Amino acid sequence: MKILVLNSGSSSIKFQLFNAKTNESLVAGIIEQIGEKLSHAKIKYGDKELERNIAIPNHKEGLEIMNSLLIESKIIKDLCEVDGIGHRVVHGGEEFSKPVIINENVIKQIEKLIPLAPLHNPANLEGIKSSIEHCPNVPQVAVFDTAFHSSIPPHAYMYALPYETYEKDGVRRYGFHGTSHHFIAKEAAKYLNIDEDKLNAITLHLGNGASMSAVKNGRSIDTSMGLTPLEGLIMGTRCGDIDPAIIFYLARVEGLSIDELDSMLNKKSGLKGICGNNDMREVGEMAKNGDEKAKLALEMFSYRIKKYIGSYSAVLGRVDCLIFTGGIGENDIDVRKNSCSGLENLGISLDLEANNQRAKEILEINKKESRVKVLVIPTNEELEIALQVKSMI
Ligand code: AMP
Repeated sequence: MKILVLNSGSSSIKFQLFNAKTNESLVAGIIEQIGEKLSHAKIKYGDKELERNIAIPNHKEGLEIMNSLLIESKIIKDLCEVDGIGHRVVHGGEEFSKPVIINENVIKQIEKLIPLAPLHNPANLEGIKSSIEHCPNVPQVAVFDTAFHSSIPPHAYMYALPYETYEKDGVRRYGFHGTSHHFIAKEAAKYLNIDEDKLNAITLHLGNGASMSAVKNGRSIDTSMGLTPLEGLIMGTRCGDIDPAIIFYLARVEGLSIDELDSMLNKKSGLKGICGNNDMREVGEMAKNGDEKAKLALEMFSYRIKKYIGSYSAVLGRVDCLIFTGGIGENDIDVRKNSCSGLENLGISLDLEANNQRAKEILEINKKESRVKVLVIPTNEELEIALQVKSMI
């Protein structure tokens, strides 16, 4: 059984093909700069690579190029021979709490959710429509980033705004990175030999975008991202939690428009806003070389995480494990150390030597006596999507 996973952005398609019996990745690739004068397509399989540099005007032709590369690799004879295609969809609103087989009605519902994810859902739909056109007979499944968080109860997902903003405009916490939070929680349950529906965990997905979740009995009961992926932790270019009155204040004293403020909070804030760089590796280097703003950015980044660990410990009562993942969570020894320092009274004690490595597979980095296990688990959102597609077809 072969399952293709597509992650369609506005000018790119990332894809990965799995053998769904063995969970082995057969080939991975990306088509970039779709719609530009020169586009770039690349696939990797084993230690081999194939590339094309030509103009690819739209997602449909992108899939055709992908198909010709896959045929050339001899991994499959045609894209449409796969058993199922999984699509990552960022926003499923309140409508989708599980993956669904895509039909006309599902497409209409995803279209209705565009105001909640104006950058992502249209691009995801572009990929879905092109893929259906290309392979009309292959089952296509939508897997939503928000779905894992559909178990969050109202007292955690409501904002204390006039109730009609929820009823009329859908203003509430939805949460994102759900596929990743779910995947690492399941992996942790297996590793700790705890039934998945009994696991209590705090999951930390720390990448360019970053979010945390409180997982109780295997289900998300709170998460740091909100209506949009702007709330919560400090990120590469996003501010995370701020006093909302800052927006009115800046509009008044600086005369900034809504669009300018949107761009400031989403693209010019976070690590980049504080020290001018959004790449954690480079921020770490800058701090080592004495850059005071980079040091401050790092302190702020871990301090925010620590505050969320504290609040999610309170919300969960019993915590079995803390799980780090994402580019930063899997690799950044200092972020893990600083985020967990001084948390012994919450039962969290890091073993600094065990922490002193990057994760290629599951790492346990707590001291033996630590009541809460601290794990580093490489995320694999594509595999999780493939597994969900498999369960649907
Ligand atoms: P992601 O969005 O999950 O791909 O993560 C991207 C972030 O991970 C960037 O801020 C990178 O600088 C960071 N990152 C990747 N590798 C490392 C590393 N070896 N050490 C520290 N940060 C890393």
